[in-house]
Amino acid sequence: TVKTRFAPSPTGFLHVGGARTALYSWLYAKSQGGEFVLRIEDTDLERSTQEAVDAILEGMSWLGLDWDEGPYYQTKRFDRYNEMVEQLLNDDKAYKCYASKELLDEIRAEQEANKEMARYDANHPKIVAANAAATDGEPCVIRFRNPKEGTVIFNDEIRGNIEIANSQLDDLIIRRTDGAPTYNFCVVVDDWDMGITHVVRGEDHINNTPRQINIYEALGAPVPTFAHCAMILGDDGAKLSKRHGAVSVMQYRDEGYLPNALNNYLVRLGWSHGDQEIFSEQEMIELFSLSNVSKSASAFNTDKLLWLNNHYIKTSDPEYVAGYLQWHMDEQKIDTTNGPALTEVITALSEKVKTLVELASSSRYFYEGYEEFDANAAKKHLRPVAKEALALVQTKLQACEDWSDEVLHDIIQATADELEVGMGKVGMPLRVAITGAGQSPSLDITLRLIGKERSITRISRALE
Ligand code: GLU
Repeated sequence: TVKTRFAPSPTGFLHVGGARTALYSWLYAKSQGGEFVLRIEDTDLERSTQEAVDAILEGMSWLGLDWDEGPYYQTKRFDRYNEMVEQLLNDDKAYKCYASKELLDEIRAEQEANKEMARYDANHPKIVAANAAATDGEPCVIRFRNPKEGTVIFNDEIRGNIEIANSQLDDLIIRRTDGAPTYNFCVVVDDWDMGITHVVRGEDHINNTPRQINIYEALGAPVPTFAHCAMILGDDGAKLSKRHGAVSVMQYRDEGYLPNALNNYLVRLGWSHGDQEIFSEQEMIELFSLSNVSKSASAFNTDKLLWLNNHYIKTSDPEYVAGYLQWHMDEQKIDTTNGPALTEVITALSEKVKTLVELASSSRYFYEGYEEFDANAAKKHLRPVAKEALALVQTKLQACEDWSDEVLHDIIQATADELEVGMGKVGMPLRVAITGAGQSPSLDITLRLIGKERSITRISRALE
């Protein structure tokens, strides 16, 4: 069965590029009825932090990318890597190299001066001499004996056939002087041990793949299938980075995006199914295929993400939206214990807002009084002539016993009829009185959600 993984290095937050790779890997596993593994590649002790691990787990959970196995931590697997290093040493597929950094630099300088490719050359007389002179116990690195002849060929699920001559690859360090195994080696041992069948990862790793394939073969391990995803660019065509704005997944949460909108955006950023734009999670799982992932880089487009976010705020189950909105209400210090259910507020406001930040801020008047009237709205609608309408509608509202949309609508209508004016002459002053502003959902809904007592009090304030 298919088994995929996401293998981030915990050196920072989960960014959208990583999230898209994780999503594709997750989707491919789901689409094949397979399993998805999370592995934390924390062998770089200097750059890895617990904070980053937590941030990655938080980002994955927020996106709903659940894992069937893991998280595994590479730092807990050193014994296993060392065991495999020993195996390669015993099989003479790896060797100890004592050449000092100074010697390697010297050889590299020589190669450059001769216009040769700067590379590690095990047969260089100076390296041969250094290794012959060394005694056991001296600090050394372990190098993988890369085949000298032949070509590494693999068929990338996204990029097609790729061939690299072994003459282009040098003898990779698999264990450093300090005893730490290196990235390219750990990845192979892990992907093998964890039974990974499909390695989905960023294009920045494509140069590692032929080296890793040689290591699989040396270990006698089956070689998985590879799929390398193209880069994500900013709107200016440069590689997506912080200066383009948000790149961290959790920053999108902070800015008011729903995870289903971000997932839908990310799945389309480099994958297509005809010209369909909206995909439910179920559809993504059913339709996703690696062969429809684009070979070329994709540009991040915030307007499209906003459009999708608005779509999902409007069309998702209000219960789902409420789960995420509550966080923003707390952030904006709006106490929701006293007032309408969030699902009601979502139904009332979702048409007009693009983010949950907007949704939260525009719902404030349902839960608490406003500081002051919006100046323009007050100037326009709370003129002395409006006071008569406000006073009359207040009396009728005071007497209202069935605080429902229908009855509330009728009260506004009856007030307008009695005063022989249009609905707007009652409605607009009333809106400004109860919300402090000139815009809100329809008045019956707004009144209902604000509640009777608060509405009456706020009208009194407008009448002062
Ligand atoms: N740890 C690597 C990274 O964060 C990914 C390795 C892989 O997917 O093979 O870029």
